[in-house]
This record gives sequence, structure tokens and C-alpha cells, in this order.
Amino acid sequence: MEPSAASPDAPEKARVLLVDDKAEHLLALRAILDRPDYDLVCARSGAEALAQILRAEFAVVLLDVVMPGIDGLEAARLIRERPRAQQLPIILLSADADDPEKVARGYAAGAVDFLAKPFDPRVIRSKVAIFVALFRQTRETERRGEALQASERRERELAEALYDVTFEEAPIGIGHADTQGRWLRVNQRMAQLLNLQRDDLREANVADLAHPDDRVRLLEGIAAVLAGKEAHHRGEYRFMRKDGSVAWLVVRLSMLRDRRGAPVALTIIEDVSEQRRLADSLQVSETLFSRLQESGLLGVVFESAAGTLMQANDAFLQLIGHTRDDLERGDIRLSELVPAEYDEVEARAREEIRLQGVCRTYEKELVRKDARRVSVLCGASSTLLPEPGIVCFALDVTERRQAERERGHMLRELRAGVRARDDFLAIAAHELRTPVTPILVGISSLLLTVRKAAEPLAPEWLQRRLAPIDRAAHRLDRLIDTLLDVSRVTVGPMRLELEEVDLCGTVREVADRLRMELERAGCALTVRADGPVLGRWDRLLVEQVVSNLLANALKYGAGHPIEIDVSATDDAARISVLDHGIGIAEDAQARIFERFERLVSVRHYGGFGLGLWIVRQIVESHGGKIEVWSRPGAGSRFTVQLPRIAIRQPAPRLPEVTQ
Ligand code: ADP
Repeated sequence: MEPSAASPDAPEKARVLLVDDKAEHLLALRAILDRPDYDLVCARSGAEALAQILRAEFAVVLLDVVMPGIDGLEAARLIRERPRAQQLPIILLSADADDPEKVARGYAAGAVDFLAKPFDPRVIRSKVAIFVALFRQTRETERRGEALQASERRERELAEALYDVTFEEAPIGIGHADTQGRWLRVNQRMAQLLNLQRDDLREANVADLAHPDDRVRLLEGIAAVLAGKEAHHRGEYRFMRKDGSVAWLVVRLSMLRDRRGAPVALTIIEDVSEQRRLADSLQVSETLFSRLQESGLLGVVFESAAGTLMQANDAFLQLIGHTRDDLERGDIRLSELVPAEYDEVEARAREEIRLQGVCRTYEKELVRKDARRVSVLCGASSTLLPEPGIVCFALDVTERRQAERERGHMLRELRAGVRARDDFLAIAAHELRTPVTPILVGISSLLLTVRKAAEPLAPEWLQRRLAPIDRAAHRLDRLIDTLLDVSRVTVGPMRLELEEVDLCGTVREVADRLRMELERAGCALTVRADGPVLGRWDRLLVEQVVSNLLANALKYGAGHPIEIDVSATDDAARISVLDHGIGIAEDAQARIFERFERLVSVRHYGGFGLGLWIVRQIVESHGGKIEVWSRPGAGSRFTVQLPRIAIRQPAPRLPEVTQ
């Protein structure tokens, strides 16, 4: 019979087995022990009692000693033999409870108490109550123990399931090996790392796949952990993959015990090939960078987020002319090193760094401590080390820039020279042809006349015909002289043959030579040269100065008077040539002393554009100077000043193109 289902709150009913062959005794016992939390079960014999005990669990048995068949003592002994009833409390009931012999036999048979008949109901109730309470307590303890075991089992199962999932799904290789270092179990990732099927690893040794050069080291690590010398071992080892490639793996070994307590080595393997490759390449680039930084070729500087220079190499400090003390005091600000005109370029570079972490290389200038500027090619990138900021490099390109500027300047000069030479050739061709034509035409017609003439030609006629030829020949001669002068001045320093010269005499002589031409040009000449004005000069060259200035005055001032004045101080002599001709625009006045510079068209006014340039060379080589005053339409005054004793000047350097 199963215990009746109790309500959830009511305590489980405790079964009490009452054994007596007499029905009235059983009835009396039932009456005494009637309680709602007791389930009273009656048996009329020892055999029936045994059957009941086999069927259900009892809290206590009240067993009559004197019964026909199996008596109480025998029944007690048999009950004790049942495994599930070994702890069952048996209270023997007897009229002979005072007989010590019987009581001793009863206890020997397994009874826990001996009650005398007739019963005292209070004694029976209290004794049964004690045993029931004990039974209940034992049952409760057992129940709690079972519940605890069940929850422990569940937790263990959960932990194992969790471990299994973790083991399988872990992104790192995990394996268990036995104390011989042989694999017991490996997860999927481990097989992947070693490029093997899981079955390939079973029974294999952990070190089997290690690179031959690393195997001994790994075996030593395994042995140290297995022998308990090290609690854990960690090392990086190369392993050979099935395809022959090498993988760098971090192996961690630790000792753990399996469920039966047998030691198992746990191995965890991580693939660090990529980290290793990155670390190697990082090291290479760091080495390269530090070599570059130390080489002194490249300035490297770190700017903090606050705009302060934190670190700079010697090359950078040299570039900006600051000392390391300036840097350490935090005095140098990168923004102050860059001139304002680079603000826009600089802002663009910083924006690029903000958006892309790096900016393209660009050129700018840096202002040194001594205020000089250096041209640099620079680039920059954001960095987090040593703290968030920008790392910049700067390469000094000042010399290159300077060379480029010079090259550009030379190129411009060269082009101008070539252009001037071409212009000159065109002008020279035209100029030389101008006197040649009247010579050729005059001589041809003269020859013709001579051949045809029957009688000698009259001298007056001949003179008339020869005069223009003579003039043209002289003009040609002067032009050729001018060209020779140019080449003389250009080829090397002008050689001065100094002697005492009277400037007034020279002016008068030149004026005399040009008398005919002045007349033809309709220029009345006034010479105010009440000399002598003496000095040590090169006579021929001074003559040429006067001649060129007078020739220009009659060319550009034809039909107007010309005035020449010679004057002197203690130290210097002065000649001024004034005409009332076309004049020279103010902005062109400086140019006319340069080679080939002409303000007028060759068709209206002949000339090479060299006369004034030669004058300037001669005057300056004597240590003197030439000035012009002029107003367009009103005329020009050229004034030459010469020191009384020529101070020889080195010839000016000239572009080579004219050679
Ligand atoms: P050119 O052979 O052309 O006269 P110059 O060197 O003597 O060469 O003079 C250079 C230029 O200066 C002339 O082409 C002319 O335009 C201007 N110039 C020189 N002298 C005078 C002057 N007295 N009056 C006006 N222009 C002059």
C-alpha cells in the first residue's frame, strides 16, 4: 500500500505497523495511536508483518512478542534481515517485559524498545511519536541530500555541456593530451591551425608536428609541466602544416585532471603567424625609420594635439636653427615656424590629416630662429604615440630651390639675349646695306660713264659724283668700327691707354670732324669749351664718347640746334650734349644704355642700338658716370662726368650669348 497522497502543505503521513494476533489488541492500539498524520497498518502474524514491510516503508513497528507461528522475536530478526528495514525501529510488546532474559533476547533480535502489557497509552504515544519524528527527520535529510546531489549533477552536466560547446566553438585551438604528451582530444580550430583532420591527431604526440628546430624546446616545455616543475608553460613555436607551410603558434600548456583524477595536460594553441609577420614588418619599418631619423637627412618632429613641439631630431632642430633647450622649454610652436603666406597650404594639409590620417607631401618655407627662411619638402601623418598628435618630416630643399631660381633667371636672360641677338642681326644687316647701296650704285654709274667718255672727265664733275660714295664709305667704316668696338668691349676688360688729354680740344676736334654732317642735318652747333680741361684718360675712347653723343644729337635732333658744354671741378670734368630733338620717354631712359635697346624704328633712324651702351662702358671703365635728362618733343641732355684721373674699373660681366 502506497502512502495516501497528502495535501501539499500537510506533512506526509508516517506509516506505523501494528502487529498482534489478537484483534482486540490491534483495535486498542489503533485507538491509542489514532492521529491524522499516522497511517496505521495492521498485521495479524509475523508472516503478514514481513509481507507488509516488503511492500512499503514504515516509520516504526509495534510487534507483539507472543504470537502463534513466527513469534515476535523471530519476526524482529527476520525484519532486520531485510536490507530496507535494517534501520526500522521495532518496539516489542509483551506481558513479560519485566523478564530480563526475554528483554535481552528481544534487544538481541533487533528491537529498540520493550513495552510491557497492559500498555500505558501515554507511553506508547510518546515513544511512537519519537520514532516517527526521527523517521521524518531521517527522510527529510535523505530527501535534501538527494536534491543536492541532483542539482550538483545537473550543474556538472551543464558545466560539461558548456565546456564541450566552448571547446568546440572556441576560436583558438584547444586540445587535451595525456601524460605522455599524446593527443586525447582536439577541437576543430586546432585541427584547422595544423591543417589536419582530427583523426590525424589522435595518438600523435603534441611535438610531432613541431618544426624540427623547435621540437626539442617544446618537448622540454611539455616535460616540465608534466613533471610538475612548472604549473604552466607558454612559448611560441613553429609548426609544420600538412601543405608544408610554417605556422607560428603560441602554445600554452597546463596540467589538469580528468574526471577520474588522472592527470591530463591541457594545450591551448593560438595562431600568431599574422601577429608575428606584422611584428616583424613593424620592426623592420621601425628600424628603417630610426635609421632615417638618425641619418641627419630628414628632420622629424612630433607635434602634440595642443600644437607644441614635443620631440624633434637633431636634423629638424638644425633646420630651424633652434637648440634642444628651446624645444625642451616648449618654446617652439610649429605654426610660428611657418610664414603667413603658407597658411592656406598648411590648413589644407591639416584638413587632409584630419580626414585621411595623412597628407600628401608639399613644399613650404620655415622661418629659422635667425629669421632666415629655409625651403622644405614636408609631409605629415597623425599618430597616437607617444600621445595623440602629428608626426611631420621636413627635407631641406633650399639649395635645390635656389638652383632652380638661378636656372630660371639664366634661362630668361638667355632667351632675352638670343632675342636681342636676332634683332641685332636684322638691324645690322639693314644698317650695313644702307651705305653699301649708294657706293655700289655710284661706282657702277661712274664706271659706265668712264667707259663711254670720249674725253677726260672734268674734275669738278668727278668730285660731285665721288662725294656721296665717299660719305657712304665713311659711314660704312664707322658702322664697322662700332661693331669692332662692341666686340672689343665684350671680349674682355677694356684696356685703357691713359695719357693727358684736354677735353675741350677733344670736343672741338670731334665737332670739326662732324661739321659736314651737322650742316647737312641742319643743326647749328654751339660749343662752350673754354679749355683747357685736363685729365688722364684714353684719348681715343673719350673721342668716341663725344662723337657718339654728338652723332645721336644730330640724328634725333635734326633741324634743331645742339649745344656742347665742357666744365670742370678740381676732381672731375663734365661734358653735356644738349639737343632739341624728339626726346626720350621717362620710363625708357634707363633702358637706352643697354645693348641693342632702341626706342625708334630702324626705318626712320638707322643704328645698332649700341652707341650709348659703348659710351656707358667707356665712361664707367674710367670710373665716371653718364646721366640723361629728357622730355619727349623737347630734347635731351646727356651729361658725362669723368674723374680727372681715370680710376680703372673692371669691365662689367656680360652674357655669353653675344660672343
Ligand atoms: P642707336 O644706334 O639706335 O642710336 P644708341 O645706343 O646710341 O643706339 O641709342 C639708343 C636709343 O636711344 C636710340 O635708338 C634712341 O631711341 C634713343 N636715343 C639716343 N640718343 C637720343 C637722343 N639724343 N634723342 C632721342 N633719343 C635718343
